[in-house]
Amino acid sequence: MHVGTAHSAPGELVTGWFEVTDLPTGSPERLPVLIADGERDGPTLWITAAIHGDEVTAMAAAQDVMSETIELSIAGTVVCLPNLNPAGLRRTTRTSYYHDDDPNRHFPDPDAESTRPPRVQELIDERVYEAFADSADALVDLHTAQVGSVPFVIRDRVLYGSERDEDEARELAADLERLVDAFDLPVVNEYAAEEYTDQNLQRSTAGAALNNAGIPAFTVELGSHTVVEEDNRELGVRGVMNVLRELGMVDDEPEPLDVESPVDFPVKRAVHPHTDVAGIVRHRVEAGDVVEAGDVVADVLTPHGGRKAAVESEHDGYVLGRHEGVAAYENDPLASLAVRDEGDLVVPRDDESDEDGET
Ligand SMILES: [Zn+2]
Repeated sequence: MHVGTAHSAPGELVTGWFEVTDLPTGSPERLPVLIADGERDGPTLWITAAIHGDEVTAMAAAQDVMSETIELSIAGTVVCLPNLNPAGLRRTTRTSYYHDDDPNRHFPDPDAESTRPPRVQELIDERVYEAFADSADALVDLHTAQVGSVPFVIRDRVLYGSERDEDEARELAADLERLVDAFDLPVVNEYAAEEYTDQNLQRSTAGAALNNAGIPAFTVELGSHTVVEEDNRELGVRGVMNVLRELGMVDDEPEPLDVESPVDFPVKRAVHPHTDVAGIVRHRVEAGDVVEAGDVVADVLTPHGGRKAAVESEHDGYVLGRHEGVAAYENDPLASLAVRDEGDLVVPRDDESDEDGET
């Protein structure tokens, strides 16, 4: 197989470049590609990272899986794109500067409609999608979250309806669960179906791989952005190797990561709580803390230091990370939580029932 100029060869690790668009300044925008092709046949795993350009621990983990860890006695092929957003990397920023919006929300979605021609980020995402959609048997997309946040894996819900029926969705969800569990970080379910599509998460790298292409795919959050965190880099490398083991690409035993969820119930991601008054934020919790409904997550202070509001969590769960910055405007979020989730992981894409109860 080949991706851009990287052509795989059995028993070799090859590198190359994948040109995704032309820049106005005359050079192509190109993504680094590494392909490790084993001497034995097996599945094809894609590792993508750093579509948010400041998520450099993710990039480092992807680079190191390829350069240090993967031996060419693997069964199958690993394709690695350690930086999906060179424009973000140049400035160490989350977004690219093409449109300054989230590059991880423009992957193909058959239900998306637009009367305007696709902009460059959408074209880039589509070209990356086409490269993995045909060849990947599984995909791991590496990210980081807020400053000081705990490492975790995000499992998207599998949608059924237009792309697949419910039985196919349950089969895909079972394959996904196997790989997510193998990675061995605490699992956080993605938002429920309505919020998921509201936020265009079916157009993220892992979301489009899973819910459009039907490839078991998930997102890993490896701590803070902007500088490489050694502990989280190492967890990323070891977790990806556990996925290779689960896929039968490596023969040795899984290696436990020994990172436990602080709670013993299933959780989903929530941007929560929000403050309804403006002010200066003082968090009362930090990443990893368990919270119960009614616990105060943060105080909101006046500029003179008096307390204006105490903002409580409405849910049981734990803190994934504190929202960055201390200046809060009305309805700004204060934290990212993992909250109790009783919802199904396989859900209809359009959960709108008519009067007869049909969907
Ligand atoms: Zn990210």
